[in-house]
Amino acid sequence: APALVWLRNDLRLEDNPALRAAADSDRPAACLYVLDDVTPGDWAMGGAQRWWLHKSLEALAAELDRIGSALILRRGDSRGVVPSVAQEVGADLVTWNRRYIGWQKEVDDDVAHALQEQEIEVRTFRGTVLFEPGEIRTGSGNIYKVFGPYWRKLREREVPEKLAKVQKLDAPAKLPSSDHLGDWNLLPTQPNWAGAFEETWEPGERGGRARWLSWLKSNATSYDEDRNFPGRDASSRQSPHLHFGETSPVVAWHDLRERIEDGDVPEDQGESWLSELAWREFHHQLLCAHPEMFDKPLDAKFERFEWDTDDDAYRAWTKGQTGYPIVDAGMRQLWQTGWMHNRVRMITGSFFVKDLLLDWRRGMAWFWDCLVDADPANNTAQWQWIAGCGADASPFFRVFNPVGQGERFDPEGAYVKRWCPELKDLPKKHVHAPWDALADVLKKAGVVLGKDYPEPIVEHAARRDEALARYKAIKT
Ligand code: FAD
Repeated sequence: APALVWLRNDLRLEDNPALRAAADSDRPAACLYVLDDVTPGDWAMGGAQRWWLHKSLEALAAELDRIGSALILRRGDSRGVVPSVAQEVGADLVTWNRRYIGWQKEVDDDVAHALQEQEIEVRTFRGTVLFEPGEIRTGSGNIYKVFGPYWRKLREREVPEKLAKVQKLDAPAKLPSSDHLGDWNLLPTQPNWAGAFEETWEPGERGGRARWLSWLKSNATSYDEDRNFPGRDASSRQSPHLHFGETSPVVAWHDLRERIEDGDVPEDQGESWLSELAWREFHHQLLCAHPEMFDKPLDAKFERFEWDTDDDAYRAWTKGQTGYPIVDAGMRQLWQTGWMHNRVRMITGSFFVKDLLLDWRRGMAWFWDCLVDADPANNTAQWQWIAGCGADASPFFRVFNPVGQGERFDPEGAYVKRWCPELKDLPKKHVHAPWDALADVLKKAGVVLGKDYPEPIVEHAARRDEALARYKAIKT
């Protein structure tokens, strides 16, 4: 009898344990992807990721076809769809790579149970992380809530070996029907907000690999020095590929370690990247243990924080019209390309929480809809970090100054000028605080504040004081 591989965030042929197991079982095998907007509730996939998913499934279907198998697409509640497709295929084995977060675990358990009732064997694997949540624990057996010691413990372990790419998989004789990808309407219609996505990304395993190899040859050698400067664009851009599982973290780890050992990448620069990859692991184990973090602050006193509900401020932030150039540049990069530089995610997030005093959950939801790498563990943990209520969080009283951050991390104003072209002729001295420039400087640069570019919608110093006062109120 055939096998069925249920693919989710593991859309690749290399180092894919669930796919490998089906191939090694000497059965014909088909793959299934379910577009499930039911079981995630509020966390159904956002708009930007739907665009990505369409492209990635297109690429995957072509690859599976090339090696002899097929991709079946179905839409609906996974708990009903997976057992039913398994029956249609006549499978006696279903494999998948495990998921770890909240509803995902519950759904996978329910599906496993239903399949076993049909006397279909289920085999599941570690396929999306280096180590499974809970594998790395403190001396007293708890999960880690502080990154430093977690990283040191992780570093003492051997990262698993990668598995060979599946080169051949025969489709079962009886193939059930598949939805047409186009009928899922994952791509935007009018207006087409994803125009710049096409120029920025090539979703799929091949696109991810090409980008990864080119980064290893170029920016990897100075990653640690450059990673905080958005204008240098020096990070790997692997986050959406990692999220959809087109890039395997295990393969990335070994590739980079090899380059370090061969002397192509300096140890400190390479290890710095590996520690970022470990943040992804850290957040997974955190959200696995604390699924309530999706809508509740880990630090319960923040339940009492008094948030504003100003819709105009919220809209200005989403549109990149706050009057703070580094914030606006980031929000525009996010809207136009589905991605934002990490340093600028911190700046825009901090501005949302501590300057606009808006509830972090609203900012998190906007990122969820706009990011091609939107990830339940990383996005949630990072927003709680920004808001000062998460694990190993930035203390609430440490408020980012958007002008100071801009001057420090975008000293030439290159990043701001790229995303806010209306400021491109301002001297770099004024690019992060145009309201401080003299009238004739603005005139020469062709900028009328309030017309070409907004006046600041809030005054940072005053809002900072207000934020600290509200924080004081929940501390006691
Ligand atoms: P690189 O610098 O090349 O890093 C390599 C990989 O390590 C990344 O692809 C990512 O998988 C992982 N990584 C790097 N930084 C972090 C981090 N701080 N936390 C967890 N993993 C990390 N990352 C997401 O993948 N999805 C999200 O939804 C997400 N939301 C974020 C929200 C906020 C408010 C902030 C401050 C950060 C968020 N991040 C998120 C983390 C980080 O910004 C991105 O992972 C990174 O910018 C992706 O770009 P890159 O692949 O070029 O990163």
